[in-house]
Amino acid sequence: MASLEVHKERLAVLASQFKALLTSFLKTTQIFFYFLFFLPKKNIPEGSHQYELLKHAEATLGSGNLRMAVMLPDGEDLNEWVAVNTVDFFNQINMLYGTVTDFCTEEKCPIMSAGPKYEYHWADGTNIKKPIKCSAPKYIDYLMTWVQDQLDDETLFPSKIGVPFKKNFLNVAKTILKRLFRVYAHIYHQHFDSVMQLQEEAHLNTSFKHFIFFVQEFNLIDRKELVPLQELIEKLTTKDR
Ligand SMILES: [Zn+2]
Repeated sequence: MASLEVHKERLAVLASQFKALLTSFLKTTQIFFYFLFFLPKKNIPEGSHQYELLKHAEATLGSGNLRMAVMLPDGEDLNEWVAVNTVDFFNQINMLYGTVTDFCTEEKCPIMSAGPKYEYHWADGTNIKKPIKCSAPKYIDYLMTWVQDQLDDETLFPSKIGVPFKKNFLNVAKTILKRLFRVYAHIYHQHFDSVMQLQEEAHLNTSFKHFIFFVQEFNLIDRKELVPLQELIEKLTTKDR
């Protein structure tokens, strides 16, 4: 009897060890795939001034005061501040949309919408001049590829120290942010239930709130463009400032 008990105990220990091993293996694989798919699409090189700015933004965000966190840090260049934050928002949106891509399909989202009242047609002004009606996944693919192309353009987003920004840089950034807003709008209107299921809503809200505070601080998106999420914006910006 005694040896049977010992045997059982050993089995239980082995089983729990195996379970722990399996869990850690699954976690590692999960992390691996997470990084494989959601690695920031645009990297700000470590050691650069822009990297310092990004770190500054992250540190002030941690203070919880978003209005303060989005302000231009003392002595910094507005263009560079807007550039670093635009890259950061692009990476965040890329990651957030990545979590709902399984639900955002040709069948489920045949049009790019933000609720029943707003529909977007894609045009980038250069390759596609006449707006085309397409599904949401297609539209967002066009949009994110277009933004990526802008961010990778060294003449628009110079990464080297001393290379100046073009005079129209803020206009370029405004167009990028205006378009990125539509991805938030689509996620909120069409995929919020999936976001809730994935328990990503806090992440989405924090990211969107930061985005809105930032564009409000520098007046980067027209009010009329923000209408599809107006109620949410009022809720998020009046609750705590
Ligand atoms: Zn969708």
